Formats: sequence, structure tokens, C-alpha cells
Amino acid sequence: MTVISSVATAVLPHPPEWPVYTGAAIAEASALVARGRTFDYGRGPQLERLEDSFAALCGRRHALALNSGTSALFAGYFALGLGPGDEVLVPALTFPTTVTPLLLLGAVPVLCDAGTDSDSGNVTADTLRARITPRTRAISVTHLWGHAVEMGPVLELAKAHGLAVLEDCSHAHGSRLRGRPVGGFGHVAVFSVGGVKLVSGGLGGVLLTDDRQVYERACLLSAFRQRSNASVESPALRDYAETGLGGNLRMSPVACVLAQSHLDALDDLVARKEANVRRLLSGLTGCPGITPMPEPPDRTLGARYGVHLVLDEHLADRRREIVSRLRARGLKVEAPKTGPLHLTRLFRTGPPDGWRLHAGADWTRGPVPHRAEELWRRWIALPATYLHDAEGSIVDPYIQAIHREMAEIADSLRSAHAHRQ
Ligand SMILES: *Cc1c(COP(=O)(O)O)cnc(C)c1O
Repeated sequence: MTVISSVATAVLPHPPEWPVYTGAAIAEASALVARGRTFDYGRGPQLERLEDSFAALCGRRHALALNSGTSALFAGYFALGLGPGDEVLVPALTFPTTVTPLLLLGAVPVLCDAGTDSDSGNVTADTLRARITPRTRAISVTHLWGHAVEMGPVLELAKAHGLAVLEDCSHAHGSRLRGRPVGGFGHVAVFSVGGVKLVSGGLGGVLLTDDRQVYERACLLSAFRQRSNASVESPALRDYAETGLGGNLRMSPVACVLAQSHLDALDDLVARKEANVRRLLSGLTGCPGITPMPEPPDRTLGARYGVHLVLDEHLADRRREIVSRLRARGLKVEAPKTGPLHLTRLFRTGPPDGWRLHAGADWTRGPVPHRAEELWRRWIALPATYLHDAEGSIVDPYIQAIHREMAEIADSLRSAHAHRQ
């Protein structure tokens, strides 16, 4: 192999990246595979257990396991009855699939800015209210990076305007707002339990609601026959169990047992990550050029899907350079991939030619969500998927490396400044 880079990259050891599974979880998954139980058309013990555990975690009546968080969002929007031309208030700053399933329904996402009550990037009742029109039907919020959205005023706003509320909790397993778990606030709540999420079965999602009708409609979208026969009771919907309503969004029981192993250990996993993150952030106090994102006093951040350093304003334009200098020291930092949606092709110019699913409404216009963009421009993402080990093995090396690099940057800026004087 030829080394083509002239920039020396230091090697810094990292623990295995999340998701990590215990021997017991792997044995349970293997046992299912050995018996050919790689799928479930009904609601077998693995699905039942995962659904019941999520319902209990958030104090909800109904839970439906689906094959991804994205599928759960799609099923949630569908089950709320959203359709062509319906406007849905969504965060400008969120993972794309909080929003994109709406397009498949012909609904119109309306990007809302980050609020000024915190630096989390979350929407607030004020930024949502600013975009309400007579066509608004629902509000969708994301508890970004694990920071719970201030739900009280959002629910009041929704009530006053007759809007449904969906919570995307995919960053926030175990997060709480003044003691109350996220996922217990909206008409529908959704968790991804796939990928690098703190509760992960590789691919999976969960939909939660107290509304039997919503649950049954979501069920019909995701499964025909066995599952829908078992779960759909209302006379108006029961006859549709035979065919379902066009989706096959069922979760695999193998994924269920893997996700279950994380969910069963959630308190421990959260506590470990929390301890590592706090040690890392407090070790960076006083570091020139950055401030760790402030820790809110009245909410716990649960899964903490993202952990960020905030660059001082005068360094925002140098984020790319600073990230690559830190990476050259072996740090797995990056500009957060979850960024403001109005900067993406889909929202700048609309869908590609020939994609006729949207209602013809133009969802590329509207006021620019400036604050979301300004916050995001200053964030450097720390590798939250390497902060789950009991030892917190990357914490000290990261603290040292970041202090050194940021001090060097501050020095070079000072001497450049002195030179110009
Ligand atoms: C990961 C994620 C999703 C999508 O979940 P998948 O399981 O990957 O489909 C949706 N919303 C947010 C906020 C996410 O982080």
C-alpha cells in the first residue's frame, strides 16, 4: 500500500464502536437464527417483549415495533391521517427522515427554526407558532442530541390550533424533561432502534401512542394477516387485516432481541455514557476557542446521540480546518452530519424531475431558519459512539489533544494578528 497523504495522522486507540452486544445477547440472537426464527408475521415473544418494554418506559398504552425509525415515522404520519396538502411543522435541524416520509404522503413539511431559549438547536413553541397557517395539521419535533424539547408550550400551542404532535425520540432514549420521559408527550412518539442508536437491533423502530385508532392504522400499514388479525379490533378496520394497507414494515425478532439487550441495560448504558461525557466536557473548561454545549439543569440527556463542542464565533469559518487538524491527531471528530435541511438539495430545489408524489405545493420556500444554521456552523461533533465503555478510555487523550491543538490555533491567530498590527 502506498501512503499518499503527507499529513502525519496520529493513531489514537478507540474502544469498539457502538453498537456492542453482550455474549448473552449474541447467544439469544444466534439461537433464533439456528431455529430459523429470522422473521415473525405475528406478535411473537420477542416483539411482544420489546413493545411492552418501550410502552412501559414511556408510560404509553400501545407500542408497535417496525423495521426502522424511518418506517415508524412514516407509519406515524400515515396513522395520524396526514395527506396531500397538509402542512406539518418540522424542525429545520433534524435527521432527514424525521421529515422526508411526509413527502410520500403528499404532505408539506414546513421547516421551523431553532429557538432562542437554549443552544440545543431544538424548535420551541415560538418558532413553531411563527409558521402556522390555516393548512397546518400537525407538529413534529425531534429531541435533538438527547435534549428534550420544552413540550408544555408545544402541546398548548397544538391544542389551541387542533394539531397532532409527533415526537421523534431517536436521539433521546432515556432522556427526561423534569423527570418525565420523552416519548410520553405527543400523540405519537417514535424511536429508532437501529444503526448507532444507544438501543439498537441493527434495523428497527418503535411507534408509541395512547390512541387505539392510530395504533391500529399503523399496524395495518406495517403488517397484513397474523399481526393485524391479532392487533386490529375496531369494527371499521378489522376487515382490512386480510390485506393490510400496502406496507411491509415488520421488525425481525433477531433485531428485537438485540435491541432488547440494550433496552434492558438502558439505565447503566446512560449512566456510563453520561459519566464519560461529563468528564470529557469538564476537562475542556477553559480551553481556548471552544465551549462545551451547556448542560441544561432541568432535563437529563439520556442516549446523548450527539455531543458537541461549540466554536467561538470568530472560529466558525475555520471549522473545516480545525476538524482536520484534530483528526490529524487521531481524534474522530467531524462537522455534525445532521445539519439544517434547508441546505440540502431536496429542500433547496425540490424533488428530481418525474417525482410526482408531493401535492404540488412548494416546500422549498419560506424564511431561512437562520438560528439553526448559525448554531450548526459552530458545532464540532465528538464521537458519541465511542463513549459507552466503562473505562471512558478516550476521555483523557481527547482532553489533552483538544487543549493542545486549540492552544496552538490560538497562538497562531495571535501572532498573525500581531504581525498585521
Ligand atoms: C436515526 C434517526 C432516524 C431514522 O431512524 P432509522 O432507524 O435509521 O430509520 C430518524 N430520526 C432521527 C432523529 C434519527 O436520529
